[in-house]
Amino acid sequence: MTDRPRQAPMPAALRAGRPPRHPALTVRCPHCAAAPDMRCTTRTGRARIQRLDPCPARLAAHATATACCTTCQSAPGYDCHHPDGTPAPVHDARYTEAKGTAA
Ligand SMILES: [Zn+2]
Ligand SMILES: [Zn+2]
Repeated sequence: MTDRPRQAPMPAALRAGRPPRHPALTVRCPHCAAAPDMRCTTRTGRARIQRLDPCPARLAAHATATACCTTCQSAPGYDCHHPDGTPAPVHDARYTEAKGTAA
């Protein structure tokens, strides 16, 4: 009889049923001061409401900390800059890089 390996089982991550954690949650949020692994919050009056998505500033911080920028060639941990060396907002390409390298 043949002893071929059976089809590989489905990865656990696909069966967990939980939405994947946003990779930006690994860094502290510079905007609302949410700690790593904590969701971002927003203030409405006196209440602190958990945001569904991380603050834009946190996405930028995560991309800056983890990804190389393919637009301005900044290394991880270094801010984006314009060709003349002046500081620039995080380039779109860097967000794409950060998503692609998320663990
Ligand atoms: Zn935040
Ligand atoms: Zn850049």
